Amino acid sequence: MNSQATNAQTQEWQALSRAHHLPPFTDYKLLNEKGARIITRASGVYLWDSEGNKILDGMAGLWCVNVGYGREELVEAATRQMRELPYYNLFFQTAHPPAIALAKAIAEVAPEGMNHVFFTGSGSESNDTVLRMVRHYWAIKGQPQKKVIIGRWNGYHGSTVAGVSLGGMKALHNQGDLPIPGIEHIDQPYWYGEGGDLSPDEFGIKVAEQLERKILEVGEDKVAAFIAEPIQGAGGVIIPPETYWPKIREILSRYDILFIADEVICGFGRTGEWFGSQYYGNAPDLMPIAKGLTSGYIPMGGVVVRDEIVETLNEGGEFYHGFTYSGHPVAAAVALENIRILKEEKIVERVKNETAPYLQQRWQELADHPLVGEARGLGLVGALELVRNKKTRERFTEQGVGMVCREHCFRNGLIMRAVGDTMIISPPLVISKTEIDELIVKARKCLDLTAAAVL
Ligand SMILES: *Cc1c(COP(=O)(O)O)cnc(C)c1O
Repeated sequence: MNSQATNAQTQEWQALSRAHHLPPFTDYKLLNEKGARIITRASGVYLWDSEGNKILDGMAGLWCVNVGYGREELVEAATRQMRELPYYNLFFQTAHPPAIALAKAIAEVAPEGMNHVFFTGSGSESNDTVLRMVRHYWAIKGQPQKKVIIGRWNGYHGSTVAGVSLGGMKALHNQGDLPIPGIEHIDQPYWYGEGGDLSPDEFGIKVAEQLERKILEVGEDKVAAFIAEPIQGAGGVIIPPETYWPKIREILSRYDILFIADEVICGFGRTGEWFGSQYYGNAPDLMPIAKGLTSGYIPMGGVVVRDEIVETLNEGGEFYHGFTYSGHPVAAAVALENIRILKEEKIVERVKNETAPYLQQRWQELADHPLVGEARGLGLVGALELVRNKKTRERFTEQGVGMVCREHCFRNGLIMRAVGDTMIISPPLVISKTEIDELIVKARKCLDLTAAAVL
């Protein structure tokens, strides 16, 4: 295809998109002025757009394509399952082999004592499920007044009513009169942005102590659970100071409330362990999962549940909750094959021992850039805080410096996401060292271009 023909095709798609499609998390007026970027195919860690540009996908889609694009085994698994049993529901005491096998495979890699999975269709549905499940759990235990769930400001737990409410993003709360009652929030462990003059360790303790204050303020007898991502993803890759999780564990051990670790991003290898909770040595009661569960090839989520909770649920009669597509056989077959690949190719171990240390070492090289106030990362996630003044951490007052950088990235063959003025990455777990080199070279070039435009 010559480039003019490609352009005409792109314009047609853009016009059709404008005419008929309302994409998620989009400013429609801006989009209509600009036209959507059309992505047409992918392989390994690369995407191609409708103009034929090859782009290194530094975000693994939306934190999900852990085994990379173009894995024939996943295509085969889906095809085989579609032929065998394309759909059947799991309502009313039914099961099928893919869902059963997948639940077992997840239990094998999950933290000790978490041996059951409730399947959903997405991360948001998983968080709707935990909200209902923890309240149901306490009701069975004769404490129906234990309803309040404590989340964190700037946490992200999805986009449904429960997901947005549990999350702490004010822009989302402001649309649709959320959160729903019974949800409280404490501050996030965001040292660079909110730590002031405290050392990271002091700040970690200080924000963790808010959990105890909130429990006492609401009343232990009313608090059902605390929900948190091991590392906040959508909030801008917020990596807690080392003191944070130990202090949170200490507080949780003093009170009779459940601990929900939202593993939708950290799960399935992102930190170099199967789950972020294992990386930090946390022992959650419930773990919402999605994204990397199927490497994004097909929608699926779930909640991994601690044995003691299952024993209580066993005494509670019917749990009136589930989705038409809970444990969908085709999704389950893909997830099962995805886990097999992660294990057989030792992808999680390779992240831990090779690619995560390498990425983090190279990522830190970007810290000397005049725009970068902080370069931070862990496992295969990273963030760069773009600031006007490195010494004072002074932010840009003009809007959209992150978006300027993001645009330069796109134009130069790299996807980095902008969360405000924080640039973030979360590449496929199969990224090689050479591809990491390419990512760093491109990132630096785009920082230079951004600096030239805004400094
Ligand atoms: C993406 C995400 C969700 C929501 O998942 P969806 O599949 O988009 O509904 C929930 N929690 C976390 C931590 C996420 O990153």
